[in-house]
Amino acid sequence: MLIKKSLHSRISDVDLKNLSFGSELSDHMFYCAYRQGCWQRPKIKPLEPLTLSPAASVFHYGQAVFEGMKAYKDENGDVFLFRPQENIRRLNRSAERLNMPSFSEEIFLEGLSKLVDLDRHWVPQGYGQALYIRPFMIANEAKILASSSREFLLMIICTPVNTYYSQSLRIKIEQEYSRATQGGVGFTKAAGNYAAAFYPTRLANEQSYDQVLWTNSPTHDRIEESGTMNAFFRIGNQLITPVISDKILGGITRKSLIELASHDGIEVQERELTVAELVENLKKGMVKEAFGTGTAVVVCPYKIIGYQGKDFSLPQISDDKSFGLRLKSRLMEIQYNRSEDFFGWRKLVKSSFTVG
Ligand SMILES: *Cc1c(COP(=O)(O)O)cnc(C)c1O
Repeated sequence: MLIKKSLHSRISDVDLKNLSFGSELSDHMFYCAYRQGCWQRPKIKPLEPLTLSPAASVFHYGQAVFEGMKAYKDENGDVFLFRPQENIRRLNRSAERLNMPSFSEEIFLEGLSKLVDLDRHWVPQGYGQALYIRPFMIANEAKILASSSREFLLMIICTPVNTYYSQSLRIKIEQEYSRATQGGVGFTKAAGNYAAAFYPTRLANEQSYDQVLWTNSPTHDRIEESGTMNAFFRIGNQLITPVISDKILGGITRKSLIELASHDGIEVQERELTVAELVENLKKGMVKEAFGTGTAVVVCPYKIIGYQGKDFSLPQISDDKSFGLRLKSRLMEIQYNRSEDFFGWRKLVKSSFTVG
């Protein structure tokens, strides 16, 4: 791996206490090009703009996939990643579905660790703060012909993020638009999935909802995901989350919370949840809480679920009684090295560059 350090860190220009999500990128980037059937030598280099042909396939056919993960700093200044192998495996699953080449898990993990190590002073210290890491792969062959690109770039960029404090949201059961279809790309982090979600989300925003709760296509009678998060509902004392399928993205937060819940004696059912069952339980006041899960906020509680123009309010629940918030703090304690890592999820980023 070729490593070229930046001569001047931009960190002194950045106010780590006042960050807006993802606007300040760290000093370095990981960069690897694929051409003539092979990944070339990977590099870590100072962050710089890309030069691409306007004919690069990513612009025309949307061959692009990404990942989202974080690095966390503990009280001693040690930096940790959380289940990073899950991210490269998922990136490769996404890539395969979009006819893009897979990338070596080992080289990815090595490059990621070196990059985060080099930019470790960009990892903000403080519970809830983190360095958000964005690996992504794009198709960059310059040809207008509508067929798969044969050239690709894999990059990793990083941005410090402040406590992504989550307010409770108002969500709307979406029954017109769909995020995913059977046999489609819903299970991948394809860039286009996000593009396709922006318009229905804007319409929901105009109706005073923060996010949409996606249902299946074309019948819209089963719950799938919420916005860009996996959805959990607590009916009575059971947590229910839809089963992973080709229409539902396998979130690493979802998977980790399920493991933590069973460890804590909270029953989680991974099963189909119909809109009818959810609405019936909302009417009976049996839905005790509902939340979305994802890397950005871990758990995002909902306060209102809108269905066909009617808003159902979820009960106020104290933090210690909430399954969602209890699981969130369990997970964060592991991420920030504040509790024992029973599951072996934390990965220390070793320091190999001495800061002068
Ligand atoms: C990224 C993503 C999630 C959450 O995945 P995590 O690994 O938990 O961050 C859930 N749903 C969709 C559609 C996503 O893109």
